[in-house]
Amino acid sequence: MKKVSFFRSIHLKLVLVIVLLILISIQIIGVYFVKTLQTTLLDSFKISIQEKVNILSIYLEEQLVKERVVEKGDATLEDDIKRILSDNNSSDIKEIRVVDSNGIIVGTSDPENQHLVGQKMVDISVRRVLSNSSQPDNPIKQKNGEKIYELITPIKTNGDETVGAIYLVGKIENVYKQIDKINQIFQKGTIITLVVTAILGVLLARTITKPISDMQKHAFALSKGNFSRKVKVYGFDEIGQLAITFNNLTKKLQESQATTESERRKLSSVLAYMTDGVIATDRRGRIILINEPAAKMLDVSRETVLSEPIINLLDLKEKYTFEELLEERESVILDYSTHYEPYILRANFSVIQKETGFVNGLITVLHDITEQEKIDMERKEFVANVSHELRTPLTTMRSYVEALYDGAWKDEELAPKFLNVTQNETERMIRLVNDLLQLSKLDSRDYQLNKELVDFIVFYNRIIDRFELTKQQNVIFLRKLPKKAAFVEIDEDKLTQVLDNIISNALKYSPEGGKITFSIKEQEQQIIVSVSDNGVGIPKENIDKIFDRFYRVDKARTRKLGGTGLGLAIAKEMVEAHGGRIWASSKEGKGTKISFTLPYIQSEEDDWG
Ligand code: ADP
Repeated sequence: MKKVSFFRSIHLKLVLVIVLLILISIQIIGVYFVKTLQTTLLDSFKISIQEKVNILSIYLEEQLVKERVVEKGDATLEDDIKRILSDNNSSDIKEIRVVDSNGIIVGTSDPENQHLVGQKMVDISVRRVLSNSSQPDNPIKQKNGEKIYELITPIKTNGDETVGAIYLVGKIENVYKQIDKINQIFQKGTIITLVVTAILGVLLARTITKPISDMQKHAFALSKGNFSRKVKVYGFDEIGQLAITFNNLTKKLQESQATTESERRKLSSVLAYMTDGVIATDRRGRIILINEPAAKMLDVSRETVLSEPIINLLDLKEKYTFEELLEERESVILDYSTHYEPYILRANFSVIQKETGFVNGLITVLHDITEQEKIDMERKEFVANVSHELRTPLTTMRSYVEALYDGAWKDEELAPKFLNVTQNETERMIRLVNDLLQLSKLDSRDYQLNKELVDFIVFYNRIIDRFELTKQQNVIFLRKLPKKAAFVEIDEDKLTQVLDNIISNALKYSPEGGKITFSIKEQEQQIIVSVSDNGVGIPKENIDKIFDRFYRVDKARTRKLGGTGLGLAIAKEMVEAHGGRIWASSKEGKGTKISFTLPYIQSEEDDWG
């Protein structure tokens, strides 16, 4: 988990909010307080100055209108004014000047400006006051870096005659200094309050952020799959309630995760052990799951096909779009057969849909139906073959019987010939039906062999003798058989038929004057019985097929030779029923060798011997 830096933390934000709120509050209070205080102080300063000036103007008016005879010892106007000014001077007044109605300075309270007495006051405002005009607008002025309060008041007699004016400079700077001091006190107070608030804020914010950060750590652990942790509940406020809910949620999540996990395991073992292939896609048709049988059927690796489009994987691109597959209700046959090997799969599709109809994905179930199809095809082929094989002799017979019926029976020469053909065809049909019955018996499950321990050399010789005696062609028989007896457990009737089929084939396909070699090879656990001829041989590509039912290399010729196409198929079934194997080796035009094995235990011979 990435740790939240202090500068981004909610803790700092809370502290900042508290501190800022306090700061704003103090500032609003401060500004209002200082402004009000300033107005009050300035007003009271002005009132006090005005009151002093009013009193002063009464005294000065008296002196200015007074008739004085200096010779009689009356004090001069300047002296009287000087006295009055020094009596009325105060700390908040910097200077008071008195001018007569002509604008001449008759006195000043400032000892340093005494030389101005007798001079004319040049200030325009003073002159305006003397001529009964208004007071200047802004009495507060800046002089030599200090703020001063300039008040010019006319001195009037009872008859409202202006006899002079008072020009007063008040020390208003003091008031401002006082306000500055209060401001400083206020600032210091603000800093102390903010520091205390910040400390308290840190502690208070911790009570909120601690449970939140606990929950954050818990949520992180949850995301990693750790359900064992529990959030500490600090109290029963909203955050406490949240923590309790969080713990309940964790429990529920743990339970549902356990259920999901067991479901997932169940599903994956079902998928792994089922023989059908299963492929799941997302809603866009990309593969999200493929089980091992499906991967094997399609010969792909599970990892590489994930997220590949299913229509590519199933090679359906040309026939279907994914949307069409979603609509497909019938099974789709996927034919991957090659020239050499049939391979057919059946695919069934099922759409995963929400109740609203929203498609979540597609499940495809693959089933290998190659064997089924093969059996089906073989069955069809077999029925077609049987019908064909039966129809040929029947058609021949019908035409001969028709000819006889139409009068040929009267012909002494033709009639026996026709009857002979009919008899041959009937025999061929009987042979065919017998062979079919044999095969059907071999196919049935309750088929049993009557095995006996037989010396195979004696048994083999007996059969060859029979063929040698009855053969009609000029074919030489050559026996390459061991002198010693070789005992094997066999069903004599069945093996007689196997050898009959093989030897009669060898005779059938041997040329006049040909040679048939009979041999037996003893091995540790089996004997190999072979019959080889130097007849027409079998082309290489047909060699394995000659053991199939109804298979003939040259159909027309074999039929003429009286074959049913079932002889070797029957031989194969019988040899395999004995636990042996049968095969052919041949060179076209040179000859054919048919061999089969029979299980054999050499020691038995000793016991019998
Ligand atoms: P059939 O009754 O037609 O001989 P088989 O099942 O015995 O039927 O033999 C199948 C086919 O195998 C024959 O039609 C023939 O083409 C071929 N075949 C069998 N044995 C030989 C052989 N010794 N030489 C050449 N071809 C043979």
